[in-house]
Amino acid sequence: MQRLIQRAVKELSEAKKAVALTGAGMSVESGIPAFRGEGGLWERYDPEEYATIEAFKRDPARCWRMLKELGEALLKARPNPGHLALAELEKMGFLSSVITQNIDGLHQEAGNTDVIELHGNGRRLLCLSCGRRFETLGISLEELPPKCRCGGILKPDVVFFGELISESVLYRARREAETCDVMLVIGTSAMVYPAAGLPGLAKSSGSKVIEINPQRTVLTDSISDYLITGSAGQIMPLLVNEIKVLTT
Ligand code: NAD
Ligand code: ZN
Repeated sequence: MQRLIQRAVKELSEAKKAVALTGAGMSVESGIPAFRGEGGLWERYDPEEYATIEAFKRDPARCWRMLKELGEALLKARPNPGHLALAELEKMGFLSSVITQNIDGLHQEAGNTDVIELHGNGRRLLCLSCGRRFETLGISLEELPPKCRCGGILKPDVVFFGELISESVLYRARREAETCDVMLVIGTSAMVYPAAGLPGLAKSSGSKVIEINPQRTVLTDSISDYLITGSAGQIMPLLVNEIKVLTT
């Protein structure tokens, strides 16, 4: 592991542009369970059943019971040492942007300034009728589903299964993947497209792809140059410490 961390540090310090692609695993140590693997929420609620736009439109009150529980976990969560290390990497000039599949807003809270949110942000709600957006914190969830002033149903401002990612967001993410020379792929199983295609795009544009994950994924041994086995909260601070040693 130490050898791979040093290899990653060397590649990061030589890169003209490095970006990170993060998934649910990034926030596991902040107390938000990932989809796959162990996690209370998704063992009780099948995301294919609850997180599709069809299911939401069919029965918003039922979906909101799951969303309320997820929302409570999101609002309580704080950045973990992995998020903080990524923010430090940016501050030191070694990271250009973070492309994230997460909807928890923790990268921004940690201090990253260019965060491309592929799947939206669960700290906001969107009215399905008039399109207005609201801070989730200010909305009462006593009665489900919550309603807008106009009477429309409010939905978390996130991309559900069956919905399209905004063209402009996807365009930026692809540009970042095509123009980086190192991509850190942290805590994603790379099963959800189009995010899962970004490491391949980076690789085919000549970038190194470095995975950080406690487990192997579909990218390991195919797209990734190597996998640093461990959690984001454990590996990322080690990596940042090594960079500091190298550059001070
Ligand atoms: P996933 O649940 O499919 O995969 C999680 C990955 O993280 C796995 O490969 C797992 O081995 C790894 N992992 C587990 N603990 C880790 C840790 N401590 N450090 C690093 N890696 C760890 O997640 P995904 O690939 O992001 O896809 C799931 C979809 O669910 C995404 O589209 C995302 O929008 C959504 N989601 C988001 C959140 C969030 O916002 N925090 C939480 C759950 C799901
Ligand atoms: Zn409205």
